[in-house]
Amino acid sequence: MSGQFFIALLNPGMGLLLAVAFFLLWMHRRDQHYVLLAGLSYAAMAAGFLILDFAPVLPFEAQRIPANIGFLVAAVLIVGAAIARYRVPVPWRGMAAICAVAMTTFLWYLFIQPSITHRVLVISIALGLVALQLPIRLRRMPRAHLVDHILFWVGVLSATNFIIRPLLIIGLTGGFSTYAGFQQSIYWTTVQFSQAMISILFALCLMVAAAIDLMAELREQADGDALSGLLNRRGFEGAAGVAVRAAADEDRPAALLIADIDHFKAVNDTHGHATGDAIIAAFGAHIRAAGPADMIAGRIGGEEFALLLPGANIESARTLAEAIRTGMAGACAPCTPDTPPPTVSIGLAASVPGTGLSRLMRDADQALYEAKRAGRNRVRAFTPAPVRIAAAPDTRKSA
Ligand code: GH3
Ligand code: MG
Ligand code: MG
Repeated sequence: MSGQFFIALLNPGMGLLLAVAFFLLWMHRRDQHYVLLAGLSYAAMAAGFLILDFAPVLPFEAQRIPANIGFLVAAVLIVGAAIARYRVPVPWRGMAAICAVAMTTFLWYLFIQPSITHRVLVISIALGLVALQLPIRLRRMPRAHLVDHILFWVGVLSATNFIIRPLLIIGLTGGFSTYAGFQQSIYWTTVQFSQAMISILFALCLMVAAAIDLMAELREQADGDALSGLLNRRGFEGAAGVAVRAAADEDRPAALLIADIDHFKAVNDTHGHATGDAIIAAFGAHIRAAGPADMIAGRIGGEEFALLLPGANIESARTLAEAIRTGMAGACAPCTPDTPPPTVSIGLAASVPGTGLSRLMRDADQALYEAKRAGRNRVRAFTPAPVRIAAAPDTRKSA
């Protein structure tokens, strides 16, 4: 048994292990289709290498047809998996067209004008063009994590590897005249080595990406409120605390609104809890639609909502509060078709230098209390109580 035998086992063995790893991962997260695509890709790659290195040689070397179909399918699936992870359209048709042209040309050089060198070039360049789709699709995507940059560059690297390497090596060492010569060539050894490296890199990137996606999802679940679609109290306090400190550092103002639906207990008692829930959901959607993009909004209690507006002064905060209050009727009307929808009271406070989130919350809460006391369905801004300045003692000497 030669050393070449074990090198030949490297790619199919690794491909099968990675395929199993991706399948196991996918079993736990069936909604993450890209994980399944990655598993199928590694299975196709393993099959391609197994056929090429271990299947009996058929007349016309016809075993190379399924082997190369396996490689092309593997490339299309792994590139599709990486692109699908970003929830952008995968260029399936474009990649299928590249593969169809490549396979037709491959068959020409297998049956009509037999040439191993041309077959190698055709398949390798087609694999490179498929790999190129990844950096092309990702070049304008925001790359939030290091793994996004790595994935982009692995795409560039594998496209370069597939297109430049065969041209270079065949140019330097000449083509292949026999099948056995090809199997023993430097070219095939470099394919086995570079493919193993790129496969591991792709797999590591996709597994790290899956872990990052899972952590983001868990964070979203921990900090979000499913009913209103806003943050929950914990998520709001975390995000708003950071935003208030950032505004203070940049010497920008910030304003906070606390909105509380009026007589909500009576709404529940009259229409039922399900209608109450529908109103909370509709009000959450109304807040999201009315507020600016940089607003941080959360449901901080049963029917109590907080909105932090970075950069807003008291006047712009009041304008938004009024828009939310007056738009409440339209937003929640479908929930209670036979009776007028509930109203909302809003208290607001603006930050002065050195104000932390807890102080802003206290001030806005105080203003909300004033709005409730004044009859509800209104907006009140926090006004600090006038500070009494003690008169300075008269130090002038009386004449
Ligand atoms: P006020 O105008 O003074 O704010 O009166 P209110 O009735 O809105 O206030 P109160 O604090 O007395 O009652 C709040 C009610 O909100 C009581 C509770 O049943 C209801 N509530 C809290 N969370 C939820 C929820 O998630 N869904 C529904 N349907 N009701 C909720
Ligand atoms: Mg209330
Ligand atoms: Mg309340």
